[in-house]
Amino acid sequence: MGFTSKMFVVSSPISDVKTSNHDYKTLFKTARQCQQHQMVVLRRNKHPQISLYASHYHIMKPRHKATTTTTTTTCILKEERDSSPSFTSCGLKFIRGKKLLSELSTWRIGGPCNYFVQVSDRTQLLSAIRYCREHSIRFLIIGKGSNCLFDDSGFDGCIILNRIDFFEEVKSGIYRVGSGYPFNQLGVRCSNDGFTGLEFASGVPGSVGGGAYMNAGANGQEISDVISSVEILQTDGRLETINQNDLAFSYRKSSFQDMEDLAAIVAVTFKIKPFPLAREQQKAYLTKRRLSQPLGERSAGSVFKNPEGVGVSAGELIEKAGLKGFRLGNAKISEVHANFFINCGGSTSKDMIELINLVKEKVKDKFNVELIEEIQYVSPI
Ligand SMILES: Cc1cc2nc3c(=O)[nH]c(=O)nc-3n(C[C@H](O)[C@H](O)[C@H](O)COP(=O)(O)OP(=O)(O)OC[C@H]3O[C@@H](n4cnc5c(N)ncnc54)[C@H](O)[C@@H]3O)c2cc1C
Repeated sequence: MGFTSKMFVVSSPISDVKTSNHDYKTLFKTARQCQQHQMVVLRRNKHPQISLYASHYHIMKPRHKATTTTTTTTCILKEERDSSPSFTSCGLKFIRGKKLLSELSTWRIGGPCNYFVQVSDRTQLLSAIRYCREHSIRFLIIGKGSNCLFDDSGFDGCIILNRIDFFEEVKSGIYRVGSGYPFNQLGVRCSNDGFTGLEFASGVPGSVGGGAYMNAGANGQEISDVISSVEILQTDGRLETINQNDLAFSYRKSSFQDMEDLAAIVAVTFKIKPFPLAREQQKAYLTKRRLSQPLGERSAGSVFKNPEGVGVSAGELIEKAGLKGFRLGNAKISEVHANFFINCGGSTSKDMIELINLVKEKVKDKFNVELIEEIQYVSPI
């Protein structure tokens, strides 16, 4: 681990550095009081028993071998905000400044994020969020990045990649699913089992959590129609289960988008009804999608929401404005579906944003309709 900033020394009485977590706690506290954001550095391999508790604190070079209650140990403290490419905290691997957001989005656009961590269960998610909070690092949880426009300059914060992907059949027609579970797989699975409500999901390349957050839908179905309850994690670490009745959903809108203290959706429980033709319906939706959408291309699905009360879709308006196939830099409006914007290779967020703004302007001029983005622009700062 490469530390960059200055060092200083703190002394603390330690009874037995080999076994006593309690005394390390005191040492950490002292160190923190000495100087905020400074770290106690420990040779972790020598004291693996404290690594879980110690989280990101690393203690090294005790000046005296401390084995009795009277020994005073001197540790070297250094600031941890360092230039090293990665570090481990609570068993989670954080990557510093190297992970490209373009690798995490279906649009394949976006610069590096300051911190990156992947979580695969609730405990890891909690640890990641706690780390970010303790270090005042802004964070954002993402699923498959299929509705995000990341910025070329990246993200000054921590991107938490959600891979909490358990699938549990509570009883027939009731499924409890991890928020990182692939939404398209859920659609196929439920339809195969002969249940209706999620047939549309088989063509949506997102996660269950992203689907709930966005209230994803198609073909007259919406995820909110079959949600029974949602387990969420608050920024202060509290877990809460919210019943469907206490949530509000509308077209591509959910209560989650307005929750200030929401850290993440952890799991969703679905209640779905039997329907013998579910599998056929799911296949028909997928075939229709393959014919009408540029599925092999780098896109984020529909860029704009369909405007309400206009009677035509956003795609039709864009097409009628003569913009189908229009290209700006390396960003292009699909020839197949005018509400899908394609990264032709090497498109920047700047290209995409300019194209989005141009389309909004033209549609406003021609039809006096304000198009509103469905995609989520992730501000770098
Ligand atoms: C080819 C294609 C087809 C598509 N078709 C459809 C369609 O038919 N219908 C439709 O509605 N959408 C469609 N989309 C858009 C997209 O797939 C959906 O919006 C999907 O639900 C997003 O899920 P995600 O995991 O990719 O979310 P991300 O893009 O990763 O995130 C989107 C937003 O959700 C938030 N979020 C994600 N996970 C969590 C979580 N666990 N807790 C809290 N917040 C979270 C993120 O912070 C972000 O603000 C399509 C996209 C593509 C590329």
